[in-house]
Amino acid sequence: MSSVGRFLDEIDPDETVDILRSLVKSNTVNPPGNEVRAASYIAGLLKKSGIPVEFMDVKPGRPNLYAILGKPGTPKLTFEGHMDVVPVGAEERWSVDPFSAEIVDGCVYGRGSVDAKGSLAAMVETLLALKRAGFNPSEPLALLAVMGEETGNVGIRHALKKGFKSGMAVVGEPTGLEVKIAHKGILRAGITARGRTAHAAMPWAGVNAIVGMAKLVLKLEEFDRSVLRVRRSRLVGSPSLTVTIISGGIKRNMVPDRCCITVDRRLIPGETSQTALSEMQDIVNRFSAEEPRLKVDIELLYADPPSEVSENEEVVQLARKAVKTVRGRDPGVSGFGAHCDMGALVNAGIPTVILGPGDLSLAHKADENLRIEELVEAAKVYTALAVLTCS
Ligand SMILES: [Zn+2]
Repeated sequence: MSSVGRFLDEIDPDETVDILRSLVKSNTVNPPGNEVRAASYIAGLLKKSGIPVEFMDVKPGRPNLYAILGKPGTPKLTFEGHMDVVPVGAEERWSVDPFSAEIVDGCVYGRGSVDAKGSLAAMVETLLALKRAGFNPSEPLALLAVMGEETGNVGIRHALKKGFKSGMAVVGEPTGLEVKIAHKGILRAGITARGRTAHAAMPWAGVNAIVGMAKLVLKLEEFDRSVLRVRRSRLVGSPSLTVTIISGGIKRNMVPDRCCITVDRRLIPGETSQTALSEMQDIVNRFSAEEPRLKVDIELLYADPPSEVSENEEVVQLARKAVKTVRGRDPGVSGFGAHCDMGALVNAGIPTVILGPGDLSLAHKADENLRIEELVEAAKVYTALAVLTCS
């Protein structure tokens, strides 16, 4: 503790808050992103303190930022955080300007304060504090600030494609400083039913695609209730399936020959998009046998796998130890309720945990805010983790 304690004392609460406020003021709503605003600000701070920084251009005005402390090479540990934020939604629901980063009752308010600029600010402060304290890592420590997380994990996928490697990683998302070692995956599929048009006065002459689809929707709902709800993962709970979009019909007086739905399926560790899709195909096949006059197709629209790392991974042990060093108690492990960059990193063979300040239930909402006390604690947790890992 004493060797770590010296570095924890270097965390400057005022500087940490300033970094978060500046990041919130850098509007990086995605779309369009404009992450270069946040990246340039972070790069300026790090370069001024003598930490080398690289931009990887993913799209015009939308770079990833990579910084390394210690000698160049594959980092032992990477702090990964995203620079983009979701749109503000209805502005009248906000009690403050979403980009003025106001402080009210010890909390920083604004879009991205929780998701996930609080984590990112704490990560940047960690690098600055370690540099100030003369920390000389025996193995490199990196910061990877990515673009495009909120729209399909574009930034991290790009970095991995370009050869980014790390011994382990921490994804900065709001976990209330709990150590999250698993999250659900997503599969979205489109299902189209095709029938035959007829005059609405003679429905028996056609094949009504909406009526057919209505029956299929109920079968999917029944599958969710009776099969998926009873499947459970210790860390993330049950998988789910729900119909989110339906469209069909041509004219008020025509029997519709086409109806489409979109299905949102959440996967738990152990499930894959292939197995989930084939379960859906089985339901469709049974339905088609009962309704042979309809032609039904499934199309995969989007898939991102679930992920989980073992509790025995070094990164899990070290992250728990870092939280205990700062907060005085072992946080244990749990699962994360949302999707993030962890899946891409784990799939690339990089053991990863999700760990950051803030309450996930405030993310993507009006009046998103982060408690300053927890922000500063996060900077200390990251610092302890860096020292425990890279000394
Ligand atoms: Zn996020």
